Amino acid sequence: MLGVFDNSTLAELVRADTYSETLVNIARNQPQLNVMEQYWAAWYTWMNNDILATGLMFFLLHEFVYFSRSLPWFIIDHIPYFRRWKLQPTKIPSTKEQLICLKSVLLSHFLVEAIPIWTFHPMCQKLGITIEVPFPHYKTMLKEICLFFVLEDMWHYWGHRLFHYGVLYKYIHKQHHKYAAPFGLSAEYAHPVETMTLGFGTVGMPILYVMYTGKLHLFTLCIWVVFRLFQAVDSHSGYDFPWSLHNFLPFWAGAEHHDLHHHYFIGNYASSFRWWDYCLDTEAGPEAQVAREERMKAKAAKNAKKKN
Ligand SMILES: [Zn+2]
Ligand SMILES: [Zn+2]
Repeated sequence: MLGVFDNSTLAELVRADTYSETLVNIARNQPQLNVMEQYWAAWYTWMNNDILATGLMFFLLHEFVYFSRSLPWFIIDHIPYFRRWKLQPTKIPSTKEQLICLKSVLLSHFLVEAIPIWTFHPMCQKLGITIEVPFPHYKTMLKEICLFFVLEDMWHYWGHRLFHYGVLYKYIHKQHHKYAAPFGLSAEYAHPVETMTLGFGTVGMPILYVMYTGKLHLFTLCIWVVFRLFQAVDSHSGYDFPWSLHNFLPFWAGAEHHDLHHHYFIGNYASSFRWWDYCLDTEAGPEAQVAREERMKAKAAKNAKKKN
């Protein structure tokens, strides 16, 4: 695997004692790179250890995005004005409840997720996931991220549905269902086995993709992880606004979809999209139940007519 620059002497030339000095040197030396590419190149050059640079970057990115995305939901829970958009308005999580959840999620991040993150770069090297600048064209990244959303959703649907069976639910998935009315921070409140299994959809799908195509940039993976974290936290927020994404993209799942799963414990197993639950008749909630019964009645009537 190549370094951040295809010319290793260039890295020696621009590396300085501090990150900001390295950044200034790169901006001066490589003005053709965009700002994001300069920050990226400065990080890898200054760290001078790609394994540590990738591991630390992913760990910090995960922590920063997860908690900074959860914070607005925590604040909104304390402002009565927003209750009108709360999906289960009588169930407002208490601060104590949220802090207990925070402690457990933090512990899981440090104990469970920190390990694979540290071994990530050597695996990237083996698979051919690149870190060099410039980045791929934004259209390439966009297409890959859309594909990852679709693949992760498929993995999540089947994995999650499986977790609702007997012992798998009892010993593993039950932990995530502690909150019948979820809140942003509870997105990653889960048993370590669940975190690793369902987490494979986020990391494993891009790995399968690069094994097949032989080409993927680590920056694309970073952007994908950021989007996926937004999706996971937001779908647990417990709020459905008139401006929520599913009102514009009808196949987008969002909080309205996942809140019903937590409320009724059954149905709505997918993460990002509604098509799996729709097509396989596993939609959750009383409305979906009525629609399902009507469909079954219509089908029975049709069959009876055929026989006659
Ligand atoms: Zn579940
Ligand atoms: Zn959930």
